[in-house]
Amino acid sequence: MAELVDARDSKSRGGDTVSVRVRPSAPFLDLGYLEIRMNSTDCLFCKIIQKDIPAKFIYEDDNVIVIEDINPKAPIHYLLIPKKHIVDFLHIEDGDERFILAMSKAVKKIAKDLSGSKAFNIISNNGTKAGQSVLHLHWHFLSGKNIY
Ligand code: AMP
Ligand code: ZN
Repeated sequence: MAELVDARDSKSRGGDTVSVRVRPSAPFLDLGYLEIRMNSTDCLFCKIIQKDIPAKFIYEDDNVIVIEDINPKAPIHYLLIPKKHIVDFLHIEDGDERFILAMSKAVKKIAKDLSGSKAFNIISNNGTKAGQSVLHLHWHFLSGKNIY
């Protein structure tokens, strides 16, 4: 059981889902506040897509953006981000094919501009326990460093 402490319909703020905060009430579930946040209005990557937050754009089309990662882990570190707020792989739905295809095609476009071997790694952290810090699906494109 959980006590509902805050529920807001984000449609009125331009979002597409509902933001809910609950406080577990059973002692064995005493985890403090558990926040279930599913809207796109406070998503960092949605704000970058909307150009509300600046980023270094490498590529953009109707379905995807490619930006430089602000904290690069390799000489080239880009993020491929679908223009739809999809939380992670487990939230991909029928109809999202164009976003995934656009991400794949963008890989090919940015790989063309690589010098030398054109070797790169694509990584996607799925879920906070796997290191996903921004809950909007994205692929890391890394090149110029052996990460294996
Ligand atoms: P992940 O931890 O897999 O969710 O990846 C999120 C990535 O977003 C990290 O590599 C961060 O360095 C990167 N990041 C965070 N804020 C920004 C930003 N404002 N612009 C570009 N990249 C960012
Ligand atoms: Zn988003």
